[in-house]
Amino acid sequence: MAKVNRRNFMQTLASGVLGFGISKNVKASVEDRGPFQSESSPSKIRKYNTLGKTGIKVPDVSCGAISFFEPSVLRYAYDLGVTYFDTAESYMRSKSESLIGEALKDVRDKVTITTKHGYSSRQKIKREDIIKRVEDSLKRMQSDYIDVAMIHGMSDLSFLKNEEIQAAYSQLKKEGKIRFTGFSTHNAKLTLKQALDNDFAQVILFIYNHMEGSEIEPLIEQVHRKGIGTVAMKIFAGGKHGNLESLISQKVSYPQAAIRWVMSNPNIDCCIPTMSSYSHVEEFVATSGKPIKRADSKVIAEYQRQTKNQYCRVSCSECLTSCPENVAVNDILRYKMYFEDYRREKEAMYYYTKLEESKKPLNCANCSGYCETACPYGLAVKEKLIEADEILRA
Ligand code: SF4
Ligand code: SF4
Repeated sequence: MAKVNRRNFMQTLASGVLGFGISKNVKASVEDRGPFQSESSPSKIRKYNTLGKTGIKVPDVSCGAISFFEPSVLRYAYDLGVTYFDTAESYMRSKSESLIGEALKDVRDKVTITTKHGYSSRQKIKREDIIKRVEDSLKRMQSDYIDVAMIHGMSDLSFLKNEEIQAAYSQLKKEGKIRFTGFSTHNAKLTLKQALDNDFAQVILFIYNHMEGSEIEPLIEQVHRKGIGTVAMKIFAGGKHGNLESLISQKVSYPQAAIRWVMSNPNIDCCIPTMSSYSHVEEFVATSGKPIKRADSKVIAEYQRQTKNQYCRVSCSECLTSCPENVAVNDILRYKMYFEDYRREKEAMYYYTKLEESKKPLNCANCSGYCETACPYGLAVKEKLIEADEILRA
């Protein structure tokens, strides 16, 4: 694939404003991109870390491929030194894996690819089905092997006791179709602790940002000391910066400040901001190897001030037991975040259709709002849930 000429792809800058996917509502120009301005010669990755005991060298600033992107954008990231790419079978309903294959097939031996497969405990899990799904991912990615095959969205590692799961991943490893195993999680408080006594995870992908994560720092240190690779996701704490006027006018870019905050923790091997556009690639890669600055703290403090009562912490579940209707509060508010802040409207609506009807906020309007009393962050939970149902219901 020819080297990317950035000028040829100015159109993709339209997805750069919010740091996430493209939106029909967002028509950004270069000038709209806030404080970040590309240098004439973009920075390259300056720092590579070893991913736990896997021995793989990964760039401190790596690439998440969860939402809309062009293969040429990923290739541009590669040209700037990004060699770790994170995808999942479910991202863009498998299209993300196909685009990864298209972008990177001729440099496959020079990059590390992680993909994930999710399993529902409500369904019967069969070894042959798991193997087939992994093989389908390989076909889409045009590769013979996955570097790190993760189980998607683990909330409790007791799930790994399932013999079909154990047999499938063990066979896939023996056949050389996967090199290392791991999991992603929204419940790191429990799963990181469990990973200390479990050998399945050679790499863990978990939420870590300046608004949620400080309470799991001792656990991150322990799993890292054990030799497990540590990868941070959701590092922009909801990605609301594109809607915050006071941040757009700051000299320091919020995404850059947020990345430097995450990577200032020496126990994090890499982070995976979503790189959906050329401007993302340049903006994020420019932070590689750079220490956090005093000005970053100011931007982060401003973000926290404006969003502390707005941002439903993805790894939080404090209010769940207070709800008499068993509403899946944190999942629904996460889908709302995907819709409004990440601009991944269709995907958010799709996730909502998959949620059991009994867990939707059908009776919130008639409830006194026990969830709000239980929320330690003062979110207007009831109102947000009613809004979420309105926008997410297809
Ligand atoms: S407002 Fe809705 S989510 Fe909150 S406690 Fe009542 S029924 Fe549950
Ligand atoms: S609404 Fe509040 S308590 Fe409930 S999950 Fe979100 S942050 Fe936690």
